[in-house]
Amino acid sequence: MQLLEERIRNSGKVFPGDVLKVDSFLNHQLDIELLDAIGAEIAARYGDCGVTKVLTSEASGIAVACFVARYLGCPALFAKKAKTSNISSNVWSAVAHSYTHNNDYTMVVSREYLGADDRVLLVDDFLANGCALRALTAICREAGAEVVGAGIAIEKAYQGGGDELRAEGLRIESMAKIASMDENDGITFC
Ligand code: 5GP
Repeated sequence: MQLLEERIRNSGKVFPGDVLKVDSFLNHQLDIELLDAIGAEIAARYGDCGVTKVLTSEASGIAVACFVARYLGCPALFAKKAKTSNISSNVWSAVAHSYTHNNDYTMVVSREYLGADDRVLLVDDFLANGCALRALTAICREAGAEVVGAGIAIEKAYQGGGDELRAEGLRIESMAKIASMDENDGITFC
């Protein structure tokens, strides 16, 4: 998506540790027009998949998920981060590794809101190594829900998570794909 690539080029900041900061428009301050365009595009690509629920994880995926869900006409659902000691039997859960915080945490989704009748589109702001998508997929598997694919705002393609998941059969549509990223040389798109 040209609009998103331009915005990343103009406002994104590359930090050590392969972290791209997009706080000014995607996951802290939110550019509603841009999010609306991203939501419309992801929804258009999955418009014929019978999606019943858009699933993301808190907190940074929620904004993108809301706009996708708005265009698909279904609820957005976000997995919450739980204290491992506090997992009840009323939730589906999976352990994920946080890319930005470099720790493991447990994602939970209430059993009330995800079940075997659901056709799920996974959504996130970033795709790096694929841990977040794997944990969301595991939650859907536990719930018996079908995953139709994933819609991602920014895929850091050089980190390989997307290609691994595609090779395993997951459909992934990314609105911007970064081929390389460097504090000095800047950002190159695929
Ligand atoms: P993965 O689980 O695919 O390794 O990483 C995806 C998750 O980590 C996303 O939910 C996102 O919040 C976070 N993330 C990964 N890379 C970046 C990045 O470069 N910048 C920001 N802001 N978040 C990232």
